[in-house]
Amino acid sequence: MNETKKIVKKAIISKKDCIACGCCTKVCPKNAITIENGSFAIVDHDLCIGCKLCQKTCPALAINMEGELTGKQGKTKHWNDYLWIVSVIYLVLGLFNILFAWIGLLCFFIPIIISIISGTKLYCNNYCGRGQLFSLLGDKCNLSLKQDTPKILRSKWFIYGFLIFFLTMFISMLISTYFVFKEVGSLKQIVTLFWTFKLPWNFAYHGVAANWVSQFAFGFYSLMLTSTLIGSIVMILFKPRTWCVFCPMGTMTHLICKLKSRENKINETPLNESDKIEKTVVE
Ligand code: SF4
Ligand code: SF4
Repeated sequence: MNETKKIVKKAIISKKDCIACGCCTKVCPKNAITIENGSFAIVDHDLCIGCKLCQKTCPALAINMEGELTGKQGKTKHWNDYLWIVSVIYLVLGLFNILFAWIGLLCFFIPIIISIISGTKLYCNNYCGRGQLFSLLGDKCNLSLKQDTPKILRSKWFIYGFLIFFLTMFISMLISTYFVFKEVGSLKQIVTLFWTFKLPWNFAYHGVAANWVSQFAFGFYSLMLTSTLIGSIVMILFKPRTWCVFCPMGTMTHLICKLKSRENKINETPLNESDKIEKTVVE
């Protein structure tokens, strides 16, 4: 008698790469993942059904399925592994002409569009140049102390609080832009770091666009530079991609993924046949 037994490839988490952001615990339909001592995630293989949702969600590329090479090792380099160069160029261009700051809007819209369409954090996982930059500086250049991310930074209060703060600051920037558009306020050729420290940035202003266009650019560049600096500080103090734990874009795309998961009733998602290994036992 032939009996077919299906062997499922279970998720394996690389402790070294895990930043304990908890994203995987929230998407796992079987509650198979827990965060151990706030340091790294572990998978209960008795519960794991190999659906790969955690792998698609992990911002640190810390999850692989059984049989795949673990961690980031052995991964063939693709063009998108070099997007950190784009992040660096973006920041440098802002030193020469502030209008280049507008390009940064792509980092706002693309992750959201991808998560709405695919229901995954594909952008965070594969196309976030800033996240790659933190990995590169923290891991390859050894600039990170690689300490565990503090509990407070991983708490939902901080994560959602930071998102609300970030969006409030973004709206405030839009209001300033509107005032300049309406000629109620004047253009300020400054970059504001950490929403507090004002740096003269007139060397990057060339007066070739409407004032409100430049005002938005100054505000948006301030936001991008500030978030890169915050990410760099936590990269040094904690794990390289600690920024991903509370990155407002990551939080927003995560919320979208959660909504999509609910919509799709992931609990009933059948296993993809291609994810199974069929084993035939001959008795
Ligand atoms: S593969 Fe699916 S079931 Fe297994 S740990 Fe990841 S999300 Fe949970
Ligand atoms: S880094 Fe990846 S494996 Fe670690 S908790 Fe976050 S999503 Fe899970």
